[in-house]
Amino acid sequence: MAFNALVVRKDEESGKTSASVEALTEDQLPAGDVTVAVEYSTVNYKDGLCIGPGGGLVRNYPHVPGIDFAGTVEASGDDRYKPGDKVVLTGWRVGEAHWGGYGQKARVKADWLVPLPDGLDTRAAMAVGTAGFTAMLAVMALEDHGLKPDQGEVLVTGAAGGVGSVATAILGNLGYEVAGVTGRPEQEDYLKGLGASRIVARDEINETVKRPLESETWAGCVDAVGGAMLARVLGQMKYGGSVSAVGLAGGAGLPATVIPFLLRGVNLLGIDSVMQPFDNRVRAWKRIASDLPMDKLDAMVHPATLADLPQLGADILKGQVRGRVVVDVN
Ligand code: NDP
Repeated sequence: MAFNALVVRKDEESGKTSASVEALTEDQLPAGDVTVAVEYSTVNYKDGLCIGPGGGLVRNYPHVPGIDFAGTVEASGDDRYKPGDKVVLTGWRVGEAHWGGYGQKARVKADWLVPLPDGLDTRAAMAVGTAGFTAMLAVMALEDHGLKPDQGEVLVTGAAGGVGSVATAILGNLGYEVAGVTGRPEQEDYLKGLGASRIVARDEINETVKRPLESETWAGCVDAVGGAMLARVLGQMKYGGSVSAVGLAGGAGLPATVIPFLLRGVNLLGIDSVMQPFDNRVRAWKRIASDLPMDKLDAMVHPATLADLPQLGADILKGQVRGRVVVDVN
């Protein structure tokens, strides 16, 4: 049976890629133990790269991008899944090295899937997506290092982006006072609606470290930006506070000193969503179902279709996507 997918093809002569919706057949799907009828996917920075020239992530063409998806199992050669099960997939280089979620069907390894927890449908799972899943991992890491709501303000950088929006909503819902850093002041109402108590302008905090230690301001931080901003934040952490380093929207460098680690016992926690072990994935998706207010999630969602993806891919690379795009692949 034919199904639709966004297919990226590469012209061997010019090296240029182009993406368009095409009809594929099931025998074109890659090998795998579970075939999923995909319902929703989403748009991440990596998707922007893979819809476009690839950024070195895509191995072979033609390629179906989509680094995350949620849907219903259609056929399974693995005891853990049966037809009708609702599942979600993030990471494992799906949508980069393997065909991903920008099609009405996907075939993947059973090890890569997570059963959807009660209380979360496939649309909500993709409103969360890799960005929201990673935000939850970042919050769990801060909690595992002792963060509690009475310890003071928690900073979220890149707050109006995908990771930042979900982190803000989760932390606000858990009773934390959240300060959101944004370069888009017009997003203030949106961020306060999600649960931020105040907005910090990007310019206030986006410069190279001048003094290794500043006033102790933040009890914790979810950082989607990296670069000079992360370096600056490290020097503003309260004694013993932790920063979850999630992203590099502002740069991969870290022009910092080790002084905050040595004199204030600050912890820098690395967050990787791609190779995250299964048990912690299950734990994070359960926490998402219980701790992320779904009405707040709805406020972040922009609906889209497969045909919208080439434009959305270009937009996210320019930092022009707010909140979470949910792609209805059907
Ligand atoms: P988005 O593009 O949705 O959000 C990034 C946000 O960062 C922007 O909305 C903007 O926030 C801010 N920003 C962008 N450019 C700059 C800049 N030059 N200086 C300071 N701030 C900037 O991306 P996501 O939220 O989906 O992802 C955020 C980061 O996390 C990315 O780097 C992504 O690659 C990474 N990531 C990592 C994962 C992991 O496993 N570790 C998983 C998923 C994502 P505002 O407009 O509010 O200023």
